[in-house]
Amino acid sequence: NRSSRRRPNRQNGALASTATPNKFSTMTTDAMPVEEKLCDVPPLPEPAADGKVVIIGGGIAGLSCGCYLQMNGIQTEILEASLLPGGLCTAWHRGPYVFDGCLRWLMGTHPPSAFHQVWTELGAIAGRKVFVHDEMLRIEGADGKTLSVPADLDKLAREFKRIAPEDSGLIDKLVRDARRCAPLEPPLENALELMSLFEKMKTGLRYLPMVPVIFRYKNVPITTYLARYKNKFLREALQLIVGNEDMSALVLVMLLAFRTRNNTGFVAGGSWDFAMAIADRYARLGGTVRYKARVTSIKVENNRATGVQCADGTFVPAATVVSCADGHTTIFKMLDGRFVDKKILYLYEHCQPFPAIIQVSLGIKKIFPDAPHTLNLALRQPLCVDDQTRHNNLEVETFGSESGLCPEGTTVMTLRFPTSYEFWTGLKKTDPQRYRAEKKRVVQEIIAILDKRFPGLAEQIERSDIATPATFVRYTGNWQGSYEGWLPTPRILGRRIPYTLPRLENFYMAGHWVVAGGGLPSAAIAGRYVAQMICAQNGKVFAATNP
Ligand SMILES: Cc1cc2nc3c(=O)[nH]c(=O)nc-3n(C[C@H](O)[C@H](O)[C@H](O)COP(=O)(O)OP(=O)(O)OC[C@H]3O[C@@H](n4cnc5c(N)ncnc54)[C@H](O)[C@@H]3O)c2cc1C
Repeated sequence: NRSSRRRPNRQNGALASTATPNKFSTMTTDAMPVEEKLCDVPPLPEPAADGKVVIIGGGIAGLSCGCYLQMNGIQTEILEASLLPGGLCTAWHRGPYVFDGCLRWLMGTHPPSAFHQVWTELGAIAGRKVFVHDEMLRIEGADGKTLSVPADLDKLAREFKRIAPEDSGLIDKLVRDARRCAPLEPPLENALELMSLFEKMKTGLRYLPMVPVIFRYKNVPITTYLARYKNKFLREALQLIVGNEDMSALVLVMLLAFRTRNNTGFVAGGSWDFAMAIADRYARLGGTVRYKARVTSIKVENNRATGVQCADGTFVPAATVVSCADGHTTIFKMLDGRFVDKKILYLYEHCQPFPAIIQVSLGIKKIFPDAPHTLNLALRQPLCVDDQTRHNNLEVETFGSESGLCPEGTTVMTLRFPTSYEFWTGLKKTDPQRYRAEKKRVVQEIIAILDKRFPGLAEQIERSDIATPATFVRYTGNWQGSYEGWLPTPRILGRRIPYTLPRLENFYMAGHWVVAGGGLPSAAIAGRYVAQMICAQNGKVFAATNP
C-alpha cells in the first residue's frame, strides 16, 4: 500500500519521518527544492524479502541507518573495519586529556529543530550540556587588527561595518540573505525518493522564500563574491570564515544563517561520547556490530546485492546491503566500478572532496581564561606543513574543563589545517622514520607559534598528538583523506547524489559521500532516509521512536 507508506506517522509525540540537513550542503542537496531533485529521482528498486540488512561501516551514517531500521523491526548487522564505532566522529584519549578528532559544532543542539529531533531519536545528546558560543570566531590579523565574528546577525553587521564602513551595502545584503535562510529546515515527512509529486511541490513551496538567495549565491565561487568587498581585512576575514577558496559563496550565507539560530553548539564530552551514545542506542535496539570486519567486495547476483565478502574470508549474506563506507571504495572497489553512469563518473572525476587535513592537539596544564573558543591567528612567518603547503593563518580551538575533554585547571587546544594527502601517505609508506620526524617538527613549530600568543604555554604542555591524512585514512578509509566527503563547490551544489546505483537492486549508500558538504547531520539523515526507503521496499510504515 504505497499511499499508507508515504503517510507520516507519529510516535511518542514525534513526527515519525524527519530529515536533517548539514551546515553547508543539506540546504542544497537534501533540503533545497532544486529542479533536478524534483524531477530526476531514480525509481525505487523492486520490493525484497524482509530479511537481514547488512550495513558496511559503523560511522554515524551506519549507526543511524541501523538504529532506524531496528526501530522498524528490520534486523541489521553492521560490519565495521576498525575496532570502534563512530568512524570520523572519534577522539583520542591521552592521559587525562581527550583529543577530539571531530566535533567543533553540531547542528541541531536545540529543539524544536528537525536536526535536534534526529539526535534525540538516536539518543545522541540527551542530558548533555551544550555550549553555544556568542562569538563564532575571533580573527587576529598580522598587523594587530582584530575582528570578532558574533553569531548574532545584528551584532555581526555592526562589527563588520565598524571595520569596513565602505562595504556597508554589501554587509547589509549578506546579513539580510543569511537571515532569510535561517529558518531553513529539512523536510520532516519522508525521503524525497518516497514523496509523491504533490508532496514534493508542497516541500518546494516551503523553501520558496529562500530560493532566490540560494540561486543568487550557489554558482558564485567565494573568491568572486568576496572580490566585491573594498575592505581588504573584511575580505580576508570572510574568506577565513568559509575556509576553502574553492567553495561556493552560498556556504558563507548558510554558515551565518545556521550559527545565528542558536542551534549549533559543542556538546560536552565531544565526539567520543556522541558516537558511543548512538552505538549504545543501536545495541539497545537489538543491533549488532561486528568489529575488525573489513568488507572487500559486495556480492551481486542478477543485478541484486546478496551479501558481502570480508577480508578474513567470511561471507555475510544479506537481503539488502547498505554501504556507509567511503563512496569511492564502495563504487570502484567493492563493486568493481560495474554500476556507474555518467552522473556517478562526473562526481568522482570532476568534483572535489574536502582537502586532507592535519590535526594537532595539545593537553596543557594551565587555563587560558582570555582565549576565545575559536581563534584565527595570523602568523608572522608562514607555517610549512609539507612539500607544497604553507599557511599564513592558523585556527585554534580552546576547550576548558567544562567541555568534558580535560580536568579542572587544564586546557585542550586543537588546530586543524589542510595539507597534502600524497605527501603524508607517501612518506608513511616509503620513509616511516622521516614521517615521524616531520610530525614532530610540525608539532614543535605549532607549539612555538602558540607560545608567542599565549606566553608560558610551551612549558605547561603535558601531552601532544598529531593526526595526519595517513591517520584518517587508516582509521576510516575516506577517499583522498577527505574529512567531510564532497566540498560544497559551485560544481556540485544542486547536483543530486543518488542513494542507489544504476542497475543495482537491494543496495543503498548513505553517509557524507551522498550529501555534498558532509558533516554529522548529513551522515545521520542520509542513514535515516535510506532506512525509510528500505521500510518502503519491505512494505513497512516507517516509524521513529525516542529512547
Ligand atoms: C577533524 C574533523 C572535524 C570535523 N568537524 C565536524 C563538525 O564540527 N561538525 C560536523 O557536523 N561534522 C564534522 N566533521 C565531519 C564528520 O565527522 C563526518 O562528515 C561524518 O562523521 C561522516 O560520517 P559517515 O558515517 O558518513 O562516514 P565515516 O565517519 O567515514 O564512517 C565510515 C565508516 O566505515 C568504515 N569502513 C570503511 N571502509 C570499510 C570497509 N571496507 N569495511 C567495513 N567498514 C568500513 C570506517 O571504518 C568508518 O567507521 C569533522 C570531521 C573531521 C575529520
